[in-house]
Amino acid sequence: MTERADIVIIGAGVIGTSIAYHLARRGVAGSVIVLERERIASGTTSAAGGGIRGQFSTEVNIRFSVESVAFWRRWDEEIGLPVDYREEGYLLLATTPEEREQFKRNVALQNSLGVPSRFVEPDEAALLAPGLFVDDLSGAAYNATDGRAGPNEATQAFARRARERGVRIREGVAVTGIEVSSGRVRAVRTAEGAIETEHVIVAAGPWSRDVAALAGVDVPVYPYRRTIFLSEPFPMPDRFPVILDIHAGWTLIREGGGARISGQTDSRPSFDRSVDWGHLAISAEHAVHRYPPLRDARFGKRGYAGTYDTTPDNHGIIGEAPDVAGLYLCCGFSGHGFQHSPAAGRVTAELVLDGAARGIDIVPLALTRFRDGTSLWEPLTAYAGSHVRSNA
Ligand SMILES: Cc1cc2nc3c(=O)[nH]c(=O)nc-3n(C[C@H](O)[C@H](O)[C@H](O)COP(=O)(O)OP(=O)(O)OC[C@H]3O[C@@H](n4cnc5c(N)ncnc54)[C@H](O)[C@@H]3O)c2cc1C
Repeated sequence: MTERADIVIIGAGVIGTSIAYHLARRGVAGSVIVLERERIASGTTSAAGGGIRGQFSTEVNIRFSVESVAFWRRWDEEIGLPVDYREEGYLLLATTPEEREQFKRNVALQNSLGVPSRFVEPDEAALLAPGLFVDDLSGAAYNATDGRAGPNEATQAFARRARERGVRIREGVAVTGIEVSSGRVRAVRTAEGAIETEHVIVAAGPWSRDVAALAGVDVPVYPYRRTIFLSEPFPMPDRFPVILDIHAGWTLIREGGGARISGQTDSRPSFDRSVDWGHLAISAEHAVHRYPPLRDARFGKRGYAGTYDTTPDNHGIIGEAPDVAGLYLCCGFSGHGFQHSPAAGRVTAELVLDGAARGIDIVPLALTRFRDGTSLWEPLTAYAGSHVRSNA
């Protein structure tokens, strides 16, 4: 006998589990199935640094941040499982005069939407991040309420709370086909059989292009490897903001009793997750320049790589596919899917259940933007000028 579900979610990363949780909150858990070909949180969510920031430069991304930060702040009351949310601040660095002016515009937009960021001169940046080399900076932007939390913890917690309400999450089950007829989703196929459904949500992270192709829909989400290097134990200051050196595309984070740096994302799409030690020299050289105390740190033993879920304009894709009724996309978050997962889950649940999302205008995130010339642009809060660099 063929199984039936009202809603099938493909992918149990932080996005798929957040959608499941938000659907469950609406009381429809019993008719929701999540299919995950590996394990919960084993996809790109497992590589996320856990960064959470309001410092974006488009209205839609900032609104996702504002709503999500409110959710992270009330996580303990809402979810009641540990997620290690803490506000350590993010300091973004500008180098050129143009970047300085863009930072000021970004801060003004953020402030207008409720993010308490501020533009700071290089001298103040040096006080916020003691030891930072600032002589070549044209300015910086700081937000004390930016922070971090645990991506694995959040995903497991969303999954657990969804399951408790009745959502069925099946691990080790890959979706191999999506049946469409008369322009509408009818079923998903797996090695274990078919599930009849009229609503399928693609939440397959960097694999979303392949999954949506099963329904004949082209979704421009491309995988890019980014390698992270961790120092041996090293005395970083107790309080130190996350540093995004926008011009260099380089990140410094205080982590695990030492420093975590990353400096390059591959320029060609691939799912390769092996550590590219060839990137270490570039990252370490910039580390010594930007944060000279790191000349005494030892890198070279510990590193890992993850896969960015990148779209051509660095924004997620949310909405019903234009040519296939019942196929919903929630993917391509381009390096910020973890932090935006609370809002992404909420709006996607509403889109499927109510036909529209409240509160945030998600029309700019529709897939059609890539066809009709309304794609977005993130000036200088993604790394300079390239969609293949980091967005952590
Ligand atoms: C190095 C690195 C650092 C990052 N740092 C941050 C950060 O600081 N802050 C932030 O917000 N974001 C960060 N990100 C981005 C973040 O990790 C992603 O945006 C987010 O995890 C996407 O979640 P997801 O659920 O869409 O994807 P995933 O976690 O990849 O989940 C998708 C799931 O779909 C499953 N799947 C695929 N195909 C199928 C199929 N056919 N059938 C069934 N299941 C399938 C996969 O197994 C996978 O588990 C970072 C990413 C990287 C690589």
